[in-house]
Amino acid sequence: MIRRIKGTQDIYFEEMKYWHYVESAVRKVTKLYAFEEIRTPIFEATELFKRSVGESTDVVQKEMYTFEDKGGRSITLRPEGTASVARAFVENGFINLGAPIKLYYMGPMFRYERPQAGRLRQFHQIGIETLGSQHPMADYEIIEFAVTFLKRLKIDDVKLYINSVGCEKCRPTYRQALKDYYADKIDGLCGDCKRRYDLNIMRLLDCKVDGDIAAKAPTIHSYLCDECSAHFNELQELLKANDIDYEIDQRLVRGLDYYTKTAFEIRADSLGSQNQILGGGRYDGLVEYIGGKFVPAVGFAAGIERIIMVLKSLGITPETEDIPSVAILPMGKESFALAFEYARRFRRRGLSVFVDVMDRNLRNRLKHAARIGAKIAVILGEEEVEKNMVTIKVLDTGSQFKVDGDFAARFVQEKLKEI
Ligand SMILES: [Zn+2]
Ligand SMILES: [Zn+2]
Repeated sequence: MIRRIKGTQDIYFEEMKYWHYVESAVRKVTKLYAFEEIRTPIFEATELFKRSVGESTDVVQKEMYTFEDKGGRSITLRPEGTASVARAFVENGFINLGAPIKLYYMGPMFRYERPQAGRLRQFHQIGIETLGSQHPMADYEIIEFAVTFLKRLKIDDVKLYINSVGCEKCRPTYRQALKDYYADKIDGLCGDCKRRYDLNIMRLLDCKVDGDIAAKAPTIHSYLCDECSAHFNELQELLKANDIDYEIDQRLVRGLDYYTKTAFEIRADSLGSQNQILGGGRYDGLVEYIGGKFVPAVGFAAGIERIIMVLKSLGITPETEDIPSVAILPMGKESFALAFEYARRFRRRGLSVFVDVMDRNLRNRLKHAARIGAKIAVILGEEEVEKNMVTIKVLDTGSQFKVDGDFAARFVQEKLKEI
């Protein structure tokens, strides 16, 4: 038997309801906030991710699905979405369309990670990006969007954490201060920290193993330049004025090199150590890194699998219609064609209809109708066809009705309202 690839999953039936629930919230809230959808390719030139995500990151060093295609090009399955959005921005000349450009995307991402609980090699992300504004209002709007989106999903017991990670001007001094602080502690640090000491020193701050040492490290706030600290203050004023509670987490640093100024995370503390729901921030350098002009930008990404995990652990069940509501069961050759005619009539009233296309006895037909969640079975036997009637069976209660065929659709629609 051919099995699916390790770290991937099939999503179907009951599980699919959660996906539709999340996806429809994304479509709804992005519309309310005037973000437009962008769909970029699933694979890109490897160079794009090396430059944008950063050569020093775990993603680029260890986790990318990179291969050579038949034309000898180095191709990578996208490990995240922002790089492609920035590439599309430059390539399609969005800069000429005025600012800001507000985009969202939704789709699969690929990372070769050690498979473990909640870590998949094909996973799915939602991302929201505002490109072209340097103003803290853009950061604020992204955060408000994130909070609204989670509220729409009924995830409201959450906390917002914010930080500033500085900019090209002020970060080098801070990095040096961290290097000085960690210099005589390096032997006692975990392997990841040792490796990151030279590559990406700020990541040492969010190490889960060496948290005690990180807690006493110098914080970035006294190193921020005037521009960065003014930006951070203004963002906080906007949050306060709009009643969005937040906490400052000085150890909140993002894993990717292109982040500047604002970094934020939304966590649900009730979820224990796996409490992060979504994270984002500002990435003013990115568009320029990949060959465009200077285009400041801010956004966030959230894993759909993670959000669904959160929904389940909070006991939130998706509100979706049960599909199908009606099963039509043709009991003999004379009713086969008629079954499809009834189905069309029912569907014209907006009902979801399953026509049983198997040749089998009534007991098995009813069993299957119940399995797929149908509420009502419409039975077409020899007698029914002859008399232009149908037998309608409410599957939950077993109660049955004989109804004139011409009124069947209306009758079923009324019955479904009662169920
Ligand atoms: Zn700065
Ligand atoms: Zn460590």
